[in-house]
Amino acid sequence: MHTAKVVTRFAPSPTGFLHIGGARTALFNFYFARKHGGDFRLRIEDTDKKRSTAEAAQAILDGMDWLGLPHDGETIYQSKNQSAHQEAAEELLKTGHAYRCYLNSEQQEGERQQSRDEGRAFRSPYRDAGNSDNPDAPFVVRFKVPAGETIVVDAVQGTIKWDNKDFDDLILLRADGSPVYMLAVVVDDHHMGVTHIIRGDDHMVNAGRQQLIYEALGWDVPVFAHIPLIFGPDGKKLSKRHGALGVDAYRDMGYLPAGLRNYLTRLGWSDGDMEIFTDAQATEKFSLAVVNKAPARLDFEKMASVNGHHMKMAPQGDLLGYGQAFFEKQNNGPLDAAQSARLKAALPHIIPRAKTLIELAEQALFVTRKRPVEITGKTKKSLKSDAKARLEDLQILLGGVEQAQWQQDGLLAILTKYTQDNHIGFGKIGAPLRACLTGGAPSPDLALVLALLGRDEALGRIEDCLKLYYNRREQGE
Ligand code: GLU
Repeated sequence: MHTAKVVTRFAPSPTGFLHIGGARTALFNFYFARKHGGDFRLRIEDTDKKRSTAEAAQAILDGMDWLGLPHDGETIYQSKNQSAHQEAAEELLKTGHAYRCYLNSEQQEGERQQSRDEGRAFRSPYRDAGNSDNPDAPFVVRFKVPAGETIVVDAVQGTIKWDNKDFDDLILLRADGSPVYMLAVVVDDHHMGVTHIIRGDDHMVNAGRQQLIYEALGWDVPVFAHIPLIFGPDGKKLSKRHGALGVDAYRDMGYLPAGLRNYLTRLGWSDGDMEIFTDAQATEKFSLAVVNKAPARLDFEKMASVNGHHMKMAPQGDLLGYGQAFFEKQNNGPLDAAQSARLKAALPHIIPRAKTLIELAEQALFVTRKRPVEITGKTKKSLKSDAKARLEDLQILLGGVEQAQWQQDGLLAILTKYTQDNHIGFGKIGAPLRACLTGGAPSPDLALVLALLGRDEALGRIEDCLKLYYNRREQGE
Protein backbone atom coordinates (compact mmCIF):
# COMPACT_ATOMS: atom_id res chain seq x y z
CA MET A 1 0.00 0.00 0.00
CA HIS A 2 2.59 2.54 1.16
CA THR A 3 5.95 2.28 -0.45
CA ALA A 4 7.15 5.54 1.07
CA LYS A 5 9.49 5.51 4.03
CA VAL A 6 7.56 4.81 7.20
CA VAL A 7 6.94 7.95 9.23
CA THR A 8 5.10 7.87 12.52
CA ARG A 9 4.46 10.70 14.89
CA PHE A 10 3.47 11.46 18.42
CA ALA A 11 1.20 14.48 18.57
CA PRO A 12 0.48 15.43 22.17
CA SER A 13 -1.45 18.48 23.22
CA PRO A 14 0.69 20.13 25.88
CA THR A 15 -1.14 19.80 29.16
CA GLY A 16 1.75 20.20 31.56
CA PHE A 17 3.24 16.72 31.60
CA LEU A 18 3.75 13.62 29.51
CA HIS A 19 0.74 11.52 30.36
CA ILE A 20 1.38 7.83 30.91
CA GLY A 21 -1.11 6.92 28.16
CA GLY A 22 0.57 9.36 25.81
CA ALA A 23 3.92 7.84 26.69
CA ARG A 24 2.69 4.44 25.60
CA THR A 25 1.30 5.87 22.37
CA ALA A 26 4.70 7.44 21.77
CA LEU A 27 6.44 4.11 22.45
CA PHE A 28 4.30 2.23 19.94
CA ASN A 29 5.06 4.89 17.32
CA PHE A 30 8.74 4.80 18.23
CA TYR A 31 9.16 1.02 17.96
CA PHE A 32 7.03 0.79 14.84
CA ALA A 33 9.12 3.41 13.06
CA ARG A 34 12.39 1.84 14.23
CA LYS A 35 11.29 -1.60 13.11
CA HIS A 36 10.59 -0.34 9.60
CA GLY A 37 13.70 1.82 9.37
CA GLY A 38 11.50 4.90 9.39
CA ASP A 39 11.24 8.16 11.27
CA PHE A 40 9.50 8.90 14.52
CA ARG A 41 8.43 12.53 14.60
CA LEU A 42 7.14 14.75 17.35
CA ARG A 43 4.49 17.41 16.91
CA ILE A 44 3.27 19.56 19.74
CA GLU A 45 -0.39 20.37 19.16
CA ASP A 46 -0.36 23.77 20.75
CA THR A 47 -3.27 25.43 19.03
CA ASP A 48 -5.30 25.75 22.23
CA LYS A 49 -3.77 29.02 23.34
CA LYS A 50 -5.21 28.90 26.82
CA ARG A 51 -3.67 25.60 27.80
CA SER A 52 -0.56 25.57 25.63
CA THR A 53 2.31 27.29 27.34
CA ALA A 54 5.98 26.98 26.58
CA GLU A 55 6.42 25.26 29.97
CA ALA A 56 3.74 22.72 29.12
CA ALA A 57 5.50 21.91 25.84
CA GLN A 58 8.82 21.69 27.65
CA ALA A 59 7.33 19.23 30.13
CA ILE A 60 6.51 16.91 27.23
CA LEU A 61 10.01 17.23 25.80
CA ASP A 62 11.51 16.54 29.22
CA GLY A 63 9.25 13.53 29.68
CA MET A 64 10.26 12.10 26.29
CA ASP A 65 13.87 12.76 27.09
CA TRP A 66 13.71 10.99 30.45
CA LEU A 67 11.80 8.06 29.00
CA GLY A 68 14.47 7.68 26.35
CA LEU A 69 12.38 8.38 23.28
CA PRO A 70 14.44 10.43 20.88
CA HIS A 71 12.46 11.72 17.93
CA ASP A 72 13.73 12.31 14.44
CA GLY A 73 13.92 15.75 12.91
CA GLU A 74 12.89 18.98 14.51
CA THR A 75 9.98 19.31 16.87
CA ILE A 76 6.98 20.63 14.99
CA TYR A 77 4.72 23.16 16.67
CA GLN A 78 1.25 23.05 15.19
CA SER A 79 0.61 26.71 15.94
CA LYS A 80 3.33 27.65 13.45
CA ASN A 81 1.60 25.89 10.56
CA GLN A 82 -1.47 28.07 10.41
CA SER A 83 -0.87 29.30 6.87
CA ALA A 84 -0.66 25.71 5.58
CA HIS A 85 -3.94 24.96 7.30
CA GLN A 86 -5.53 28.01 5.71
CA GLU A 87 -4.17 27.07 2.30
CA ALA A 88 -5.74 23.64 2.56
CA ALA A 89 -9.07 25.21 3.52
CA GLU A 90 -8.81 27.51 0.49
CA GLU A 91 -8.14 24.52 -1.70
CA LEU A 92 -11.19 22.76 -0.35
CA LEU A 93 -13.30 25.86 -1.01
CA LYS A 94 -11.98 25.99 -4.55
CA THR A 95 -12.77 22.38 -5.27
CA GLY A 96 -16.22 22.57 -3.73
CA HIS A 97 -15.40 20.33 -0.75
CA ALA A 98 -15.94 23.16 1.68
CA TYR A 99 -18.13 26.23 1.90
CA ARG A 100 -18.33 29.55 3.67
CA CYS A 101 -20.99 29.55 6.32
CA TYR A 102 -22.28 32.93 7.46
CA LEU A 103 -24.54 31.79 10.29
CA ASN A 104 -24.05 33.87 13.39
CA SER A 105 -23.82 31.95 16.62
CA GLU A 106 -27.49 32.33 17.43
CA GLN A 107 -28.55 31.12 14.00
CA GLN A 108 -26.07 28.31 14.22
CA GLU A 109 -27.52 27.18 17.52
CA GLY A 110 -31.01 27.24 15.98
CA GLU A 111 -29.86 25.08 13.06
CA ARG A 112 -28.06 22.79 15.41
CA GLN A 113 -31.16 22.33 17.51
CA GLN A 114 -33.21 21.62 14.43
CA SER A 115 -30.80 18.98 13.20
CA ARG A 116 -30.91 17.40 16.66
CA ASP A 117 -34.70 17.45 16.67
CA GLU A 118 -34.74 15.79 13.29
CA GLY A 119 -32.15 13.24 14.39
CA ARG A 120 -29.66 14.12 11.67
CA ALA A 121 -26.16 15.53 11.46
CA PHE A 122 -25.62 19.28 11.18
CA ARG A 123 -25.92 20.84 7.73
CA SER A 124 -25.76 24.59 7.20
CA PRO A 125 -28.20 26.30 4.83
CA TYR A 126 -25.12 27.83 3.16
CA ARG A 127 -23.92 24.41 2.03
CA ASP A 128 -25.86 24.66 -1.20
CA ALA A 129 -25.70 28.42 -1.61
CA GLY A 130 -22.78 28.19 -3.98
CA ASN A 131 -19.55 29.75 -2.89
CA SER A 132 -21.19 33.03 -2.11
CA ASP A 133 -18.76 35.75 -1.29
CA ASN A 134 -19.96 38.26 1.23
CA PRO A 135 -16.90 40.25 2.21
CA ASP A 136 -18.70 42.22 4.90
CA ALA A 137 -19.92 39.32 6.99
CA PRO A 138 -17.80 37.02 9.12
CA PHE A 139 -17.86 33.39 8.15
CA VAL A 140 -16.46 30.04 9.07
CA VAL A 141 -15.29 27.50 6.53
CA ARG A 142 -17.18 24.23 6.79
CA PHE A 143 -16.42 20.87 5.33
CA LYS A 144 -19.05 19.66 2.90
CA VAL A 145 -19.46 16.06 3.94
CA PRO A 146 -20.04 14.03 0.77
CA ALA A 147 -22.78 11.45 0.35
CA GLY A 148 -21.91 7.81 0.76
CA GLU A 149 -20.04 5.95 3.42
CA THR A 150 -16.58 6.03 4.89
CA ILE A 151 -14.65 2.86 5.54
CA VAL A 152 -11.47 2.91 7.57
CA VAL A 153 -9.45 -0.26 7.70
CA ASP A 154 -7.75 0.23 11.03
CA ALA A 155 -4.62 -1.81 11.70
CA VAL A 156 -5.81 -2.59 15.23
CA GLN A 157 -9.58 -2.16 15.26
CA GLY A 158 -10.28 -3.75 11.87
CA THR A 159 -12.81 -2.38 9.39
CA ILE A 160 -14.95 0.46 10.69
CA LYS A 161 -17.75 1.90 8.61
CA TRP A 162 -19.73 5.13 8.94
CA ASP A 163 -22.64 6.50 6.97
CA ASN A 164 -21.50 9.98 5.95
CA LYS A 165 -24.90 11.41 6.69
CA ASP A 166 -24.06 10.90 10.36
CA PHE A 167 -21.09 13.29 10.11
CA ASP A 168 -21.66 17.00 10.79
CA ASP A 169 -20.45 19.54 8.26
CA LEU A 170 -17.68 20.40 10.63
CA ILE A 171 -15.92 23.71 10.87
CA LEU A 172 -12.45 23.72 9.32
CA LEU A 173 -11.55 27.37 9.88
CA ARG A 174 -13.08 29.55 12.55
CA ALA A 175 -14.23 33.10 11.81
CA ASP A 176 -10.83 34.42 12.88
CA GLY A 177 -9.14 32.17 10.35
CA SER A 178 -7.75 29.77 12.94
CA PRO A 179 -7.95 26.08 12.05
CA VAL A 180 -9.71 23.45 14.13
CA TYR A 181 -7.91 20.31 15.25
CA MET A 182 -9.53 18.12 12.59
CA LEU A 183 -8.06 20.13 9.73
CA ALA A 184 -4.74 20.97 11.35
CA VAL A 185 -3.95 17.35 12.13
CA VAL A 186 -4.60 16.20 8.55
CA VAL A 187 -2.58 19.00 7.00
CA ASP A 188 0.34 18.59 9.39
CA ASP A 189 0.43 14.82 9.05
CA HIS A 190 0.43 15.18 5.29
CA HIS A 191 3.22 17.76 5.26
CA MET A 192 5.28 15.70 7.67
CA GLY A 193 4.90 12.68 5.37
CA VAL A 194 3.25 10.62 8.10
CA THR A 195 2.42 7.15 6.80
CA HIS A 196 1.07 5.56 10.00
CA ILE A 197 -1.06 7.23 12.61
CA ILE A 198 -0.87 5.25 15.82
CA ARG A 199 -2.86 6.85 18.64
CA GLY A 200 -5.45 6.24 21.34
CA ASP A 201 -8.77 4.76 20.30
CA ASP A 202 -10.57 7.80 21.63
CA HIS A 203 -9.63 9.25 18.23
CA MET A 204 -11.24 6.42 16.25
CA VAL A 205 -14.26 8.45 15.14
CA ASN A 206 -11.94 11.29 14.09
CA ALA A 207 -10.27 8.89 11.66
CA GLY A 208 -13.45 8.70 9.58
CA ARG A 209 -13.73 12.47 9.38
CA GLN A 210 -10.04 12.91 8.71
CA GLN A 211 -10.08 10.32 5.96
CA LEU A 212 -12.79 12.36 4.21
CA ILE A 213 -10.60 15.45 4.38
CA TYR A 214 -7.59 13.55 2.99
CA GLU A 215 -9.71 12.27 0.14
CA ALA A 216 -11.15 15.70 -0.60
CA LEU A 217 -7.64 17.10 -0.81
CA GLY A 218 -6.54 14.23 -3.05
CA TRP A 219 -3.90 13.12 -0.56
CA ASP A 220 -2.82 9.58 0.35
CA VAL A 221 -4.59 8.41 3.47
CA PRO A 222 -2.15 7.13 6.11
CA VAL A 223 -2.66 3.81 7.83
CA PHE A 224 -4.64 4.30 11.03
CA ALA A 225 -3.98 2.20 14.11
CA HIS A 226 -6.09 3.05 17.16
CA ILE A 227 -4.77 1.48 20.31
CA PRO A 228 -6.94 0.87 23.36
CA LEU A 229 -6.62 3.31 26.21
CA ILE A 230 -5.01 2.48 29.52
CA PHE A 231 -7.42 2.03 32.38
CA GLY A 232 -6.66 2.24 36.07
CA PRO A 233 -6.18 -0.84 38.23
CA ASP A 234 -9.87 -0.45 39.15
CA GLY A 235 -10.91 -0.66 35.50
CA LYS A 236 -11.88 3.01 35.38
CA LYS A 237 -10.63 5.30 32.68
CA LEU A 238 -7.50 7.24 33.56
CA SER A 239 -8.00 10.95 33.39
CA LYS A 240 -5.54 12.89 31.32
CA ARG A 241 -5.52 15.82 33.69
CA HIS A 242 -4.92 13.67 36.71
CA GLY A 243 -1.72 15.17 38.08
CA ALA A 244 -0.22 11.95 39.38
CA LEU A 245 -0.11 10.26 36.02
CA GLY A 246 2.67 12.01 34.17
CA VAL A 247 5.82 9.98 33.53
CA ASP A 248 7.53 12.26 36.05
CA ALA A 249 5.33 10.71 38.74
CA TYR A 250 6.65 7.27 37.75
CA ARG A 251 10.18 8.60 37.76
CA ASP A 252 9.57 9.77 41.31
CA MET A 253 8.20 6.33 42.22
CA GLY A 254 11.65 4.97 41.34
CA TYR A 255 11.06 3.37 37.97
CA LEU A 256 13.83 3.18 35.42
CA PRO A 257 13.05 4.52 31.97
CA ALA A 258 13.92 1.12 30.48
CA GLY A 259 11.58 -0.61 32.94
CA LEU A 260 8.74 1.76 32.19
CA ARG A 261 9.34 1.43 28.45
CA ASN A 262 9.12 -2.33 28.75
CA TYR A 263 6.06 -2.31 30.98
CA LEU A 264 4.11 0.21 28.91
CA THR A 265 4.98 -1.48 25.63
CA ARG A 266 3.89 -4.84 26.99
CA LEU A 267 0.65 -3.26 28.17
CA GLY A 268 -1.75 -4.02 25.36
CA TRP A 269 0.85 -5.63 23.13
CA SER A 270 2.46 -9.02 23.30
CA ASP A 271 4.73 -11.32 21.42
CA GLY A 272 4.25 -14.85 22.65
CA ASP A 273 5.29 -15.01 26.26
CA MET A 274 7.98 -12.34 25.97
CA GLU A 275 7.63 -10.29 29.15
CA ILE A 276 11.03 -8.74 29.61
CA PHE A 277 12.69 -7.15 26.65
CA THR A 278 15.25 -4.63 25.56
CA ASP A 279 14.65 -1.88 23.05
CA ALA A 280 16.33 -3.98 20.39
CA GLN A 281 13.99 -6.87 21.06
CA ALA A 282 10.91 -4.65 21.13
CA THR A 283 11.99 -3.06 17.88
CA GLU A 284 12.49 -6.40 16.23
CA LYS A 285 9.22 -7.90 17.38
CA PHE A 286 6.90 -4.93 17.39
CA SER A 287 3.84 -5.38 15.26
CA LEU A 288 0.47 -3.66 15.20
CA ALA A 289 -1.20 -6.95 14.36
CA VAL A 290 -0.89 -8.20 17.93
CA VAL A 291 -2.03 -5.09 19.75
CA ASN A 292 -4.95 -6.11 21.95
CA LYS A 293 -8.29 -4.52 21.27
CA ALA A 294 -9.39 -4.61 24.88
CA PRO A 295 -8.41 -1.77 27.19
CA ALA A 296 -5.26 -2.37 29.17
CA ARG A 297 -5.22 -2.06 32.95
CA LEU A 298 -2.36 -0.65 34.92
CA ASP A 299 -0.95 -3.21 37.31
CA PHE A 300 1.59 -1.69 39.66
CA GLU A 301 2.84 -5.02 40.95
CA LYS A 302 3.64 -6.11 37.43
CA MET A 303 5.21 -2.75 36.69
CA ALA A 304 7.51 -3.14 39.69
CA SER A 305 8.41 -6.69 38.77
CA VAL A 306 9.28 -5.71 35.18
CA ASN A 307 11.29 -2.81 36.56
CA GLY A 308 13.12 -5.16 38.92
CA HIS A 309 14.34 -7.17 35.93
CA HIS A 310 15.60 -4.00 34.28
CA MET A 311 17.40 -3.00 37.46
CA LYS A 312 19.35 -6.25 37.14
CA MET A 313 20.02 -5.62 33.44
CA ALA A 314 21.04 -1.98 33.85
CA PRO A 315 24.68 -0.89 33.80
CA GLN A 316 25.82 0.21 37.27
CA GLY A 317 26.41 3.73 36.04
CA ASP A 318 22.76 4.02 35.04
CA LEU A 319 21.59 2.84 38.44
CA LEU A 320 23.86 5.31 40.20
CA GLY A 321 22.76 8.10 37.87
CA TYR A 322 19.01 7.48 38.01
CA GLY A 323 19.25 6.52 41.66
CA GLN A 324 21.20 9.61 42.69
CA ALA A 325 18.14 11.65 43.63
CA PHE A 326 16.90 8.80 45.82
CA PHE A 327 20.22 8.21 47.57
CA GLU A 328 20.60 11.93 48.20
CA LYS A 329 17.09 12.31 49.49
CA GLN A 330 17.70 9.61 52.03
CA ASN A 331 21.05 11.10 52.97
CA ASN A 332 19.68 14.63 53.21
CA GLY A 333 22.31 15.78 50.75
CA PRO A 334 25.00 14.52 48.40
CA LEU A 335 26.96 11.41 49.36
CA ASP A 336 30.58 11.96 50.28
CA ALA A 337 33.41 10.00 48.64
CA ALA A 338 33.45 7.27 51.29
CA GLN A 339 29.68 6.80 51.13
CA SER A 340 29.79 6.65 47.35
CA ALA A 341 32.58 4.09 47.40
CA ARG A 342 30.65 1.87 49.81
CA LEU A 343 27.52 2.24 47.73
CA LYS A 344 29.35 1.15 44.58
CA ALA A 345 30.76 -1.90 46.31
CA ALA A 346 27.38 -2.85 47.72
CA LEU A 347 25.40 -2.30 44.53
CA PRO A 348 25.76 -5.77 42.97
CA HIS A 349 24.61 -7.32 46.25
CA ILE A 350 21.54 -5.18 46.77
CA ILE A 351 20.19 -4.90 43.23
CA PRO A 352 18.52 -8.33 43.43
CA ARG A 353 16.65 -7.11 46.53
CA ALA A 354 15.10 -4.05 44.91
CA LYS A 355 12.40 -3.58 42.30
CA THR A 356 12.49 0.20 42.24
CA LEU A 357 15.10 2.85 42.94
CA ILE A 358 13.27 3.74 46.14
CA GLU A 359 13.76 0.16 47.30
CA LEU A 360 17.36 0.28 46.11
CA ALA A 361 18.01 3.33 48.27
CA GLU A 362 16.41 1.55 51.24
CA GLN A 363 18.59 -1.49 50.65
CA ALA A 364 21.65 0.73 50.33
CA LEU A 365 21.01 2.54 53.58
CA PHE A 366 23.23 0.22 55.66
CA VAL A 367 26.26 1.34 53.65
CA THR A 368 25.28 4.94 52.96
CA ARG A 369 24.62 5.73 56.63
CA LYS A 370 27.08 7.96 58.36
CA ARG A 371 28.64 7.43 61.78
CA PRO A 372 27.44 7.44 64.41
CA VAL A 373 24.73 5.14 63.18
CA GLU A 374 21.53 5.73 65.02
CA ILE A 375 19.92 2.65 66.51
CA THR A 376 16.27 2.90 67.40
CA GLY A 377 13.20 0.94 68.44
CA LYS A 378 13.19 -2.81 68.08
CA THR A 379 16.79 -2.91 66.94
CA LYS A 380 17.94 -1.26 70.13
CA LYS A 381 16.42 -4.13 72.10
CA SER A 382 18.97 -6.51 70.61
CA LEU A 383 21.69 -4.61 72.43
CA LYS A 384 21.11 -6.60 75.60
CA SER A 385 23.58 -6.15 78.40
CA ASP A 386 25.02 -9.66 77.92
CA ALA A 387 25.92 -8.68 74.37
CA LYS A 388 28.31 -6.00 75.52
CA ALA A 389 31.13 -8.34 76.40
CA ARG A 390 30.67 -10.25 73.17
CA LEU A 391 30.79 -7.06 71.14
CA GLU A 392 33.97 -6.12 72.95
CA ASP A 393 35.45 -9.53 72.12
CA LEU A 394 34.52 -9.13 68.51
CA GLN A 395 35.93 -5.65 68.42
CA ILE A 396 39.29 -7.09 69.43
CA LEU A 397 39.09 -10.10 67.15
CA LEU A 398 38.03 -8.07 64.13
CA GLY A 399 40.48 -5.35 64.99
CA GLY A 400 43.20 -7.94 64.52
CA VAL A 401 42.24 -8.52 60.90
CA GLU A 402 44.42 -6.60 58.53
CA GLN A 403 42.99 -4.45 55.80
CA ALA A 404 44.14 -6.87 53.08
CA GLN A 405 42.45 -9.78 54.85
CA TRP A 406 39.15 -7.97 55.32
CA GLN A 407 37.12 -10.34 53.12
CA GLN A 408 33.71 -11.90 53.54
CA ASP A 409 34.89 -15.53 53.86
CA GLY A 410 37.61 -14.84 56.38
CA LEU A 411 35.30 -12.64 58.43
CA LEU A 412 32.65 -15.32 58.47
CA ALA A 413 35.23 -17.82 59.66
CA ILE A 414 36.17 -15.53 62.54
CA LEU A 415 32.56 -15.02 63.62
CA THR A 416 31.80 -18.73 63.37
CA LYS A 417 34.89 -19.74 65.31
CA TYR A 418 34.00 -17.27 68.04
CA THR A 419 30.51 -18.76 68.47
CA GLN A 420 31.96 -22.27 68.49
CA ASP A 421 34.68 -21.45 71.00
CA ASN A 422 32.10 -19.86 73.26
CA HIS A 423 29.41 -22.49 72.68
CA ILE A 424 26.80 -19.98 71.65
CA GLY A 425 24.38 -19.81 68.73
CA PHE A 426 25.14 -17.38 65.93
CA GLY A 427 22.09 -15.33 66.91
CA LYS A 428 23.76 -14.31 70.14
CA ILE A 429 26.27 -12.23 68.24
CA GLY A 430 24.35 -11.79 64.99
CA ALA A 431 21.60 -9.52 66.27
CA PRO A 432 23.69 -7.10 68.36
CA LEU A 433 26.48 -6.91 65.82
CA ARG A 434 24.02 -6.24 63.03
CA ALA A 435 22.37 -3.55 65.15
CA CYS A 436 25.71 -1.79 65.63
CA LEU A 437 26.68 -2.08 61.99
CA THR A 438 23.40 -1.16 60.33
CA GLY A 439 21.20 0.51 62.91
CA GLY A 440 18.43 -1.81 61.76
CA ALA A 441 18.51 -0.94 58.07
CA PRO A 442 17.83 -3.88 55.76
CA SER A 443 21.09 -5.73 55.18
CA PRO A 444 22.50 -8.92 53.69
CA ASP A 445 24.63 -11.58 55.32
CA LEU A 446 26.55 -10.29 58.33
CA ALA A 447 30.02 -11.15 57.04
CA LEU A 448 29.11 -9.48 53.77
CA VAL A 449 27.94 -6.39 55.67
CA LEU A 450 31.33 -6.24 57.38
CA ALA A 451 33.13 -6.67 54.10
CA LEU A 452 31.07 -4.05 52.29
CA LEU A 453 31.45 -1.49 55.06
CA GLY A 454 35.20 -1.91 55.00
CA ARG A 455 37.49 -2.37 57.98
CA ASP A 456 37.65 1.16 59.34
CA GLU A 457 33.97 1.94 58.97
CA ALA A 458 32.89 -1.38 60.48
CA LEU A 459 35.22 -1.12 63.46
CA GLY A 460 34.23 2.51 63.91
CA ARG A 461 30.57 1.61 64.03
CA ILE A 462 31.19 -1.08 66.64
CA GLU A 463 33.13 1.38 68.71
CA ASP A 464 30.38 4.01 68.43
CA CYS A 465 27.82 1.46 69.45
CA LEU A 466 29.70 0.40 72.56
CA LYS A 467 30.34 3.97 73.51
CA LEU A 468 26.97 5.49 72.80
CA TYR A 469 24.55 2.74 73.65
CA TYR A 470 26.26 0.77 76.42
CA ASN A 471 27.87 3.56 78.35
CA ARG A 472 24.62 5.49 78.38
CA ARG A 473 22.76 2.43 79.59
CA GLU A 474 25.19 2.05 82.41
CA GLN A 475 24.62 5.65 83.27
CA GLY A 476 20.97 4.70 83.66
CA GLU A 477 19.67 6.31 80.48
N1 GLU B 1 -3.29 16.10 20.08
C1 GLU B 1 -4.14 14.98 20.21
C2 GLU B 1 -4.14 14.50 21.66
O1 GLU B 1 -3.31 14.86 22.43
C3 GLU B 1 -3.71 13.81 19.36
C4 GLU B 1 -3.98 14.00 17.94
C5 GLU B 1 -3.66 12.81 17.09
O2 GLU B 1 -2.89 11.93 17.53
O3 GLU B 1 -4.15 12.76 15.97
O4 GLU B 1 -4.98 13.77 22.05
